[in-house]
Amino acid sequence: MPEAATPLMPIPGHIDPVPVPRAITPREDGRVDLVGLSRPQIKAELTAAGLDERQAKLRAKQIFHWLYHRGVTDFDAMTDIAKTQRPWLAERFVIGRPNVVEAQVSSDGTRKWLLRSDDGQDYEMVFIPDADRGTLCVSSQVGCTLNCRFCHTGTMRLVRNLTPGEIVGQVMLARDALGEWPRGSMAVEIDADEDDDAPQYTTDGRLLTNIVMMGMGEPLYNFDNVRDALKVVMDGDGLALSKRRITLSTSGVVPMMARAGEEIGVNLAVSLHAVTKDVRDEIVPINRKFGIEDLLQACADYPGANNARRITFEYVMLKDKNDSDEDARELVRLIRQYRLPAKVNLIPFNPWPGAPYECSTPERIKRFSDIVFEAGISAPVRTPRGRDIMAACGQLKSASEKKSRAELDRLAEEKQAALG
Ligand code: SAH
Ligand code: SF4
Repeated sequence: MPEAATPLMPIPGHIDPVPVPRAITPREDGRVDLVGLSRPQIKAELTAAGLDERQAKLRAKQIFHWLYHRGVTDFDAMTDIAKTQRPWLAERFVIGRPNVVEAQVSSDGTRKWLLRSDDGQDYEMVFIPDADRGTLCVSSQVGCTLNCRFCHTGTMRLVRNLTPGEIVGQVMLARDALGEWPRGSMAVEIDADEDDDAPQYTTDGRLLTNIVMMGMGEPLYNFDNVRDALKVVMDGDGLALSKRRITLSTSGVVPMMARAGEEIGVNLAVSLHAVTKDVRDEIVPINRKFGIEDLLQACADYPGANNARRITFEYVMLKDKNDSDEDARELVRLIRQYRLPAKVNLIPFNPWPGAPYECSTPERIKRFSDIVFEAGISAPVRTPRGRDIMAACGQLKSASEKKSRAELDRLAEEKQAALG
């Protein structure tokens, strides 16, 4: 059954997000979009529309499979549902996808989509193909309230939580775009309890195998929707992505970390970025509320973390800010002090217009990585991906927002001209 809603937390950011009290964004035509709903939720919708309990339960199971395992968007394709019942379903329900406003491809193969919700909110998703995997970077909010100083998303003014449908919809759309749904009568037996890393479908190594909650937004400030969405994504009869192939990144919302481990159970990444209070307070302002000690203790307590499933510490390399030898040594000391099964991802700072920082030099990043690595902790340097289309970490900020800024600038200019 759906779990109780977590009340919105007071947020230390510059603005509060627009709450989304309903799990489903209302549509103008009054039909209900089923994408993002769990089996019990689909059943509840069918019951509300008039089916009896037994029928609703059976149909919910069938629809769930067609929706998430087969990727169909048309009730007419659901061959095990009575032909006469399909139009009845189509009158009341839809199987939607996020509206695509723009799709871009980087010179390195990274793809970015600008998406628009049914109520006109813009958000982005990014697909990063590698030789042996394909990673979808999924957004959890439109914008972000936490305005980390090096992050473009944090400068967006309007923030709204995405619904489970809008979160799962990103994965569905990526599967559409990559042509990844099983075809014909291909029935794949999937054991829901199995943590099997083998790809479920044929893959040429460029398809969707991993998900990172590292797009726009702070996932733990939209806990219920992110949890419900990821549960659908992990369901063995649907999209069936293993929890080992999903990573949730948080800037350090300490009070929600234990629940994330218990109720979602995916890999954890933590945006640490600094090892002293002064610097972290400045660049990741949520640190003023939840400090480094509490954050690292929450990491030590994270359910499921062990040497085989390490916690990733993300560390953005900012010139003369957090990149000294001393910082690297302190990072090692902290990881040891809290006995953390950790790996460190060093992320060269990705620039954006008006950003107040510069990226550390390659030599500095190498030296920092060596110090951490020599202490026995893996510390790879992430190659930036999709910078040319503003798709790299921290560069996401929807075009409509940019346009409204541009419009504001134009208006200001016009005003100036009128005055002068
Ligand atoms: N809000 C979550 C997840 C999204 S950001 C979080 O902060 O963890 C994904 C990663 O990119 C985070 O580690 C974030 O701190 C980092 N990041 C943000 N802006 C960046 C930039 N300009 N250059 C490099 N990394 C950046
Ligand atoms: Fe929000 Fe993460 Fe960007 Fe910070 S780094 S502003 S938490 S999206």
